[in-house]
Amino acid sequence: MPSFTAASRDENSHIPRMDVDWLKVVPRGLYCVPGDFYVDPAGAVDRAVVTHGHGDHARPGHGSVLATAGTIAIMRQRLGTAAAASFQATAYGETIDIGGVAVTLVPAGHILGSAQIVLEHRGTRVVVSGDYKRRLDPTCAPFAPQSCDVFITEATFGLPVFRHPDDRGEIGRLLRSLALFPERCHLVGVYALGKCQRVLSLLRQQGYDEPVFLHGALMPLVRLYEELGVAFGPVPAAAGVAREALRGRIVLAPPSAASEPWVRRLPDPVVAMASGWMRVRQRAKQRGVELPLVISDHADWDELTATIAECAPGEVWVTHGAEDALLRHCALSGVAARALSLVGFEDEE
Ligand SMILES: [Zn+2]
Ligand SMILES: [Zn+2]
Repeated sequence: MPSFTAASRDENSHIPRMDVDWLKVVPRGLYCVPGDFYVDPAGAVDRAVVTHGHGDHARPGHGSVLATAGTIAIMRQRLGTAAAASFQATAYGETIDIGGVAVTLVPAGHILGSAQIVLEHRGTRVVVSGDYKRRLDPTCAPFAPQSCDVFITEATFGLPVFRHPDDRGEIGRLLRSLALFPERCHLVGVYALGKCQRVLSLLRQQGYDEPVFLHGALMPLVRLYEELGVAFGPVPAAAGVAREALRGRIVLAPPSAASEPWVRRLPDPVVAMASGWMRVRQRAKQRGVELPLVISDHADWDELTATIAECAPGEVWVTHGAEDALLRHCALSGVAARALSLVGFEDEE
């Protein structure tokens, strides 16, 4: 099986490498040898440490899962009894020894329960950041930067062209559109886990206290967040509400709903979508989005590069995404970097 060293890129080969032979890339993803566990494996394994509840990280069928209580609650709700045979919840900052590897979960600021996995073994400290962002999000604990020897990062928005604007400004555009078209419904496409709850919180932060109507598919995770202590104000179901009563209202729905018959119940909807990809005009156009809102739960270029500078690792390993520009950035900064090219991770939004 190939070790990380084998996956290195020539471009960075002049920079000395750290020997971390206890962590490997295998077909199912990142495998910690002495601990005999995987981090966010791409398929069912005996022992998994899971960074967060999104489907490409939290897959069903594991023997045991170590994660935060928030992630476990999300996995249980989304995957039911298929989630795992057993769970072990760990609090942020608590260290657990697994086969001589000290494992600590710290906040990643991505969605509720999301964690970076800090692994320490034989004096080397490796951080698997999972998905993360640096902007404040009232629905989850903020990213806690860790100094480390190896920083393992995603690069979903790893191009200098991706600079997410201020999320409050984007919500402000939604509210201005609502004021401009009081006779129209505003349908906002949001992913059910994370984005939906973040948009609700941002609306409340900006003083919008009217009911925000929800597509039925969004309801279970909104209720779960509420049970876990995140308040959203009035969030009734859109189902059963008279068409006329939805004029001048905001309705949140999964992104796919805008192209389903479901949308016909809405009065003259302005179709909006909240996603980091809305920066790409073509994507917005393809999806028929009239009001693109650039709101992402992933780090943009500036956040990625600032985080690498802050964590000051000896090496950066890039799991997936637009890795080339980030590798180049690291090389220019004198930091060794390699692409792991892990499979099974999605663009997510
Ligand atoms: Zn995610
Ligand atoms: Zn992801």
